[in-house]
Amino acid sequence: MKENELEQILVKFADLIVKVGLNLQPEQRLFIWAEQLEVAPLVRQVVRRAYQAGSPLVSVLWNDDREKLLRMKHAPRDSFEEYPAWKTDTRYQCTKRGDAILYISGKDPDLYQGQDPELVSLTSRVYLEHLKPARELTAKNETQWCVICPPTPDWAAAVFPDLSREAGEERLWEAVIKTCRLNKPDPVKFWQDYFLQIQEHAEYLNDKAYSALKFKAPGTDLTVGLPEGHIWMGGGDVTRNGIAFGANIPTEEVFTLPHRERVEGTVAATKPLSYQGSLIEGFSLTFKEGRVVDIRADKGRDALQSILEGDPNSNYLGEVALVPHGTPISQLGISFLNTLYDENASNHLALGSAYRFSLAGGADMSAEEFAAAGGNESINHVDFMFGSGEMDVDGVMANGTTEPVMRAGEWAFDG
Ligand code: ZN
Ligand code: ZN
Repeated sequence: MKENELEQILVKFADLIVKVGLNLQPEQRLFIWAEQLEVAPLVRQVVRRAYQAGSPLVSVLWNDDREKLLRMKHAPRDSFEEYPAWKTDTRYQCTKRGDAILYISGKDPDLYQGQDPELVSLTSRVYLEHLKPARELTAKNETQWCVICPPTPDWAAAVFPDLSREAGEERLWEAVIKTCRLNKPDPVKFWQDYFLQIQEHAEYLNDKAYSALKFKAPGTDLTVGLPEGHIWMGGGDVTRNGIAFGANIPTEEVFTLPHRERVEGTVAATKPLSYQGSLIEGFSLTFKEGRVVDIRADKGRDALQSILEGDPNSNYLGEVALVPHGTPISQLGISFLNTLYDENASNHLALGSAYRFSLAGGADMSAEEFAAAGGNESINHVDFMFGSGEMDVDGVMANGTTEPVMRAGEWAFDG
């Protein structure tokens, strides 16, 4: 891609982020958390666009991955309980006072390859513990928040190991342009219309109010109970005070929360999972009464184990999401090794926290009330992909009869 072509894409991307992702309001501040210095060109375009939209203050906090890797390689081994708390405190303060929050990361999925798994796991636990207060606010949609993953050279090299770094980055940009629909004449208008289509599927499922979903595919035979009052959402989000926004771009999913104690059976992942700089591949999980009782993994078992050890509730599910197999992300046939893209190519589940807004009245419940209603809360929320073109999904009605929801990975009720 020529430099001026890339610049035009970045301008479109920034416009989409500010108008649809964040729906930044006049006079609203913006806080940006960026994970690699390489994403600076996009960050600068967002800063420009946000000020043009009337924001009085845009702050950028750099939390560079390369810096984290240097620490992992060279810092004293007994120093990893230390954390620069001012970073997560700042994020919490900004979220609390109602700034829009943008998280930008083009993470290298293999960042921590070859590093001590115990230190990797400790580093992620210490980070998540510090992040918890800020995350609790976004899990209630207290303010608009958005996650964006632009290509970076290291990430592209991991996705396309057989190409030169330059060619790999170009290919990844092409894929991101397609999936974020930056190739449409008006991406903002595209997403506003597309959100409405996704919302129709969520409404259909809400009218059905199934008591459970049954998933069948090679390696998977899983029943996921749905609590009373569960809400299917998708096609954008709404803050507690009624501002529409899009937490993920791209997004194709409709999702809700499982009943934390009513998940039974085995699920086989259909895509590798990149977790905190480690890759987990060829894995499956077995659940009994909602809890993970057995795990298998061809690669990255330590990392999978470390997710489950995050806290006791990391062994329970917090999200179930449906994504038709025919979406553009899925049809590209690329494993992005990045959850934002891979989860929108596939039915997925998340270990750990449920979103409070997935349950009627959930945002106003105490922790005990939320748990009693079937909601799970944890320092983790780790999505993993298990959908495919071979997956059938049935909905279980209140009277116990079932009806098709998906056949061979596609909606069964779309005709
Ligand atoms: Zn999801
Ligand atoms: Zn999720």
